[in-house]
Amino acid sequence: MQHKKDSKLIPKETIDKIFETARIEDVVGDFVSLKRRGVNMLGSCPFHKEKTPSFTVSPSKNIYKCFGCGKGGTSIDFIMEHEQMTYPDALRYLAKKYGIKIEEQEQTAEEIAKANERETLFHVTNFANSFFQEQLHNTEEGRAIGLSYLQERGFRMEVIKKFQIGYSPESRDALTKHALENGYKLEYLEKTGLTIAKEEKQHYDRFRGRIIFPIFSIAGRAIGFGGRILDSTKQTAKYVNSPESEIYHKSNVLYGLHVGRSEIARQNMCYLCEGYMDVVMLHQAGVENVVASSGTSLTTEQIRSIKRFTPNITILYDGDAAGIKASFRGIDMILEEGMNVRIVLFPENEDPDSFARKHTSDEVKTFLKEQASDFITFKTGLLLAETNNDPIKKADLIREIIASIALIPENITRETYIKQCASLMQVEEAALVYSLNQVRRNILEQRQKRQKQPEPTEQPDPELPPDALPPQWQEALKGQTLDGRDIRERDVIRMLVVHGNKKFFFPFTDESGTPQTQEMYVADFIINDLKNDEITFENNDYQYIFEYVAECRAQALFPDEQMLLQHENKSIRSIVVDLLSNNYTISDGWEQRRIYTTTEEDKLQFACEHTLLSLKGFLISKQLTEAEVALQSLSQEDTDEQIELLQHIIELSEIKKMIATHLTRTRMPG
Ligand code: ZN
Repeated sequence: MQHKKDSKLIPKETIDKIFETARIEDVVGDFVSLKRRGVNMLGSCPFHKEKTPSFTVSPSKNIYKCFGCGKGGTSIDFIMEHEQMTYPDALRYLAKKYGIKIEEQEQTAEEIAKANERETLFHVTNFANSFFQEQLHNTEEGRAIGLSYLQERGFRMEVIKKFQIGYSPESRDALTKHALENGYKLEYLEKTGLTIAKEEKQHYDRFRGRIIFPIFSIAGRAIGFGGRILDSTKQTAKYVNSPESEIYHKSNVLYGLHVGRSEIARQNMCYLCEGYMDVVMLHQAGVENVVASSGTSLTTEQIRSIKRFTPNITILYDGDAAGIKASFRGIDMILEEGMNVRIVLFPENEDPDSFARKHTSDEVKTFLKEQASDFITFKTGLLLAETNNDPIKKADLIREIIASIALIPENITRETYIKQCASLMQVEEAALVYSLNQVRRNILEQRQKRQKQPEPTEQPDPELPPDALPPQWQEALKGQTLDGRDIRERDVIRMLVVHGNKKFFFPFTDESGTPQTQEMYVADFIINDLKNDEITFENNDYQYIFEYVAECRAQALFPDEQMLLQHENKSIRSIVVDLLSNNYTISDGWEQRRIYTTTEEDKLQFACEHTLLSLKGFLISKQLTEAEVALQSLSQEDTDEQIELLQHIIELSEIKKMIATHLTRTRMPG
């Protein structure tokens, strides 16, 4: 793996310190809203779509695990997966978060070029972001044109800095030239859309002469830009945005989410508006739980990224009726995600930006609070005026509202809205329920049809080798191919890793025949037992963990689970995460069987013996089958060998019987 080489730049002690300091609930909590559930914390998985949260964070074990899609790991794994970062960059991210200083070598332009393309695009974007800010604050042109424009429009310095607003000079290729001089390749300037190349040596800056709003990933890395013209009389687009790139996917990004996310979670509500200016000006007015879907119409991905922090969205609309009707689709999409949606309509010719500039912070907050109405009152109010009590138009309106209500996944919410609709429209509730049920039936039928015609991208192709499949299918297939041996081996490893440092009293009979007990660590019991019987694991990772623990025990040490969690091999890490995760599905383990014993120690002993016997029983059965096959394949003449094999089979059968008896005993029928 490449990260091994890269990570050499960061000293080992620093890596250890990062691992020690990073708290999984903090790290994940920056992206997912978590609720305490017993000793763990629960949230909606950011890696797959789910209705009931199954994404679990264990502060005590310092790991996360999703029981829906199977993803799990340490803080580092989370950042790598979620932010699509390399291992060293995830370390740097966490170091920055916790104020840990990394003394690493500065990367040269040559090294930058060697880094993978994605990273390079991040570097270029970051470079441009610094350049634009530098231009705004520290050049004559920037201050005279850019900064004075912002100040005229009422932007205070603190929000200019907070949103890292910048300025791109008028000259044709100021940024491009500066970037090339600093060793950045034209190829990447083009790929990020910062530079537009017409012909050879004919390149110019996409954003020249514009105010620059950098667009950030949720973690706060610049991924693209929005550029606004200063002079609205110019014959050119008011806004120019970065094109889609490897790092910037418009439909996934919400402007302002990186600075607003904690406030969104805290207020348990998110304001949704249209433009960069709206977000910035609302922040200035003290409303920080706000994002904008700038550059695109609202997408499901954007709605889901809000849902990770809150189920409540309030849409802020400018007072333009045509525009509002066009965005009814957005309301339906939010309802479809099972979220609650409210709407604030701004007075005519006002948008959040202009409104916030004209009013005090308190006025803005009060206005937002008082004007927010639920979608049904809003939609009905808006459309009812147009019907003029025409019964046909009114029926159309009811149908339209019912269609929205039908999208809501929860029964109770639907009922509430139906009641409200009935009273607003002055119609019988029963009639509404009837037509609601019809629409629901249609929706469900369509969904079933869609499911019967599977989309090719979502179906595993059995012909493909496992590596070619998308990760979620690899997970699913992995589960299916677990054979009896793997399940049993895994159970033994779980006992070793999770319960290894616990003790129980092991009963034995001494030479004189007197029953005795001996205090014993679970780990030692397992290690001795398997070594005595010369059993090794078929799964290499399990064997590695076993040897690692045995090695530690030989030095009278206990391997810390956290040590295994830091292992450089991803598959070792993910095994340990799986083992440590509480509601790990146990297919054939002891925990599933009901063990009625009084003390934890008794349970441990039973569990130990049971897991070991279960593995041994499986191995014996396999040997027995092999021996029987061998016996059948012998020719009649090989009498000696026949006898030998028969004896072996008898021996094995005896052991098998013994194990079966023991297993019944340790199983403790309940
Ligand atoms: Zn998941």
